[in-house]
Amino acid sequence: MASRIIIENAIVVTMNDEDEVFFDGAVVVEGDRIVAAGDASVASSYDRADARIIDASGMAALPGLVDLHYHTALGKGWSDHLPLWEYLQSCWYPMIRALDPEAAYWAAMASYSESLRSGTTTVNDMYRQLPALARAAGDIGIRAVLSNDVADDEHDLDTLADNEAAFKEVHGASDGRVEVLIGIEWLPLASGALLRGARDLANELGTGIHIHLNESLSEVEISKEKFGRRPTEFAYDCGILGPDCIAAHCVWLSDAEIALMRETGTHISHNPTSNAKLGNGVARVPEMLAAGLNIGLGHDAAECNNSRDMFQVMKWSSLVHRATRVDASLQQAPDVLRMATRNGSLALGHDTGELSAGKLADVILVDLKSQFFTPLMPMSKEHIYSHLVFSAEGSCVDTTIVNGQIVMEGRQFTTIDEAEVLARANECFREVIDRMVVPAEYANL
Ligand SMILES: [Zn+2]
Repeated sequence: MASRIIIENAIVVTMNDEDEVFFDGAVVVEGDRIVAAGDASVASSYDRADARIIDASGMAALPGLVDLHYHTALGKGWSDHLPLWEYLQSCWYPMIRALDPEAAYWAAMASYSESLRSGTTTVNDMYRQLPALARAAGDIGIRAVLSNDVADDEHDLDTLADNEAAFKEVHGASDGRVEVLIGIEWLPLASGALLRGARDLANELGTGIHIHLNESLSEVEISKEKFGRRPTEFAYDCGILGPDCIAAHCVWLSDAEIALMRETGTHISHNPTSNAKLGNGVARVPEMLAAGLNIGLGHDAAECNNSRDMFQVMKWSSLVHRATRVDASLQQAPDVLRMATRNGSLALGHDTGELSAGKLADVILVDLKSQFFTPLMPMSKEHIYSHLVFSAEGSCVDTTIVNGQIVMEGRQFTTIDEAEVLARANECFREVIDRMVVPAEYANL
């Protein structure tokens, strides 16, 4: 019989179609699936004898968060003062060129452990050395959608052949928790032939595409010079867009480009903290929502955010639009939580993002017994949503369950030696710094 977990006495925030919240609720998990979620009575028909019982008194159970645009990272807090282009040339590219499988593994373990600690159960991770990342995801227990950092050959990053090999090696690994998409770094490092090749390869393998689009004004200018088209227009011309494509950032979309996203059913990852930190601007989220686009949320990378805490991203994804539009009606808390759960899951084609019978068991417990959630009106779902989006932070997460496996409980990992992960990530960072070669024109920034 599949192992059974019964979570009881929880406030169950389902994020289901009816937007139900159960104040004396329960969630029952068998194997990798949720078999029941609702009020306390839903657990009564399940045998408790062999079940793992979790008393979630004073906690909210909600779907694990989906980080829709992610890079495993090793260089948090390094060269933090630079804008995007200079940062990429002097730090990010040299660092990921110097990455070996060992460094990638420990970087992923450090990155994924920070994410799991703060309630993220799924990452859409574009990076290098995918077999090492897949091994890390398998070991720590996170759900990881991986893609390579593919660019034209002269940039000495990954190739479509690398991405194809990674797909063949690790797609579907760890009971399906690991998947592989085709990743395109961005248009300044890509030709039309590469983009068309990426689409052909994705179709041939039956997988999707993860790409950065319209992140910065300089990217838009480079695209117009190089291709005579704006980035999303050219991606459309090359067949990149589609319902299996996740476009990250989309800060500088024209009305015509928003229409192309809509026409093709492309999903958007909105990454407001990264966009702010790198001085890239504020995405036109109200217009994208009005056009009917599916928008999830991402932290981007710890190098351009310094935190993988999706609770921070949620708060920013509301406040930045209210501030710049002078409009407090924008991005209400339930809509924001939906972006961080269901919308991200929909973009990845996953059966997660919701606490309902039949869904995969990605569940987090948020401890409400602290100042973060005081005062808390009993039986007020508006109050719960508001606290979760505007007050909570990742440290409020007590328990993280992925695919029916308890990965963290009482803020202690069950799958890894956390001290070893941090020590090894620190060592690997120093080794990568020693190996990396910065082009002369960017050496003294
Ligand atoms: Zn990115």
